[in-house]
Amino acid sequence: MRIVCEENLNKKLLDLYHQLRSEHGTLKWWPADTPFEVALGAILTQATAWRNVVKAIDNLKAADTFTPEQIHAISQDELEQLLHPSGYFRMKAKKVRAFVKHIVQRPMQEMFKQDVPELREELLSIYGVGPETADSIILYAAEKPSFVVDTYTYRLLSRLGWVEGNFHYARLRALFMDNLPHDVNLFNEYHALIVRHGARVCQKTPECQACGLQSVCDYFSN
Ligand code: SF4
Repeated sequence: MRIVCEENLNKKLLDLYHQLRSEHGTLKWWPADTPFEVALGAILTQATAWRNVVKAIDNLKAADTFTPEQIHAISQDELEQLLHPSGYFRMKAKKVRAFVKHIVQRPMQEMFKQDVPELREELLSIYGVGPETADSIILYAAEKPSFVVDTYTYRLLSRLGWVEGNFHYARLRALFMDNLPHDVNLFNEYHALIVRHGARVCQKTPECQACGLQSVCDYFSN
């Protein structure tokens, strides 16, 4: 993946943020009550729609199995059953189990005392936690500035004409990390807005007629 327009990226990124905000308003993510619920959601949402995550989380809550200790105590079969709606439930159960095993021994509040690079390294060392999941946990559960990127981010920036080539998580994240102030609220809203725009407007087949970014979009002008 290559960044095509490197000039004034700081201003361009802030302008894009304000355009997305005027289009979608303030979103205030993440839809969860506790840091643990955020982390659980970040693992369960891998390769599935959020509505399926909600069903799995509701299952855990209904079974009164919603603390790290309670999840750690149930069998693999039980956990798989409860997580069934989230898709890839066997693999997700392994990932959730690895995560709760880690935080039963080392509580999240302890982990979250670290700075972003150390916290990120620790999260990435846990089975099933990849870069997007780690950054989501850091940003939305620990409330520390680590920008989250995903395929929505890539699709939008590639259509705007800012990047080309294949999706590359680290390079795309660096584009935001290196050119924006490290502000938790800004990172929180920015990622949420990109996801909202990608899910509702700049979809696989884009709804360009409903999009406020036409004037700055290469895809639209071409
Ligand atoms: S104009 Fe179309 S392609 Fe460009 S950002 Fe909007 S929806 Fe996406």
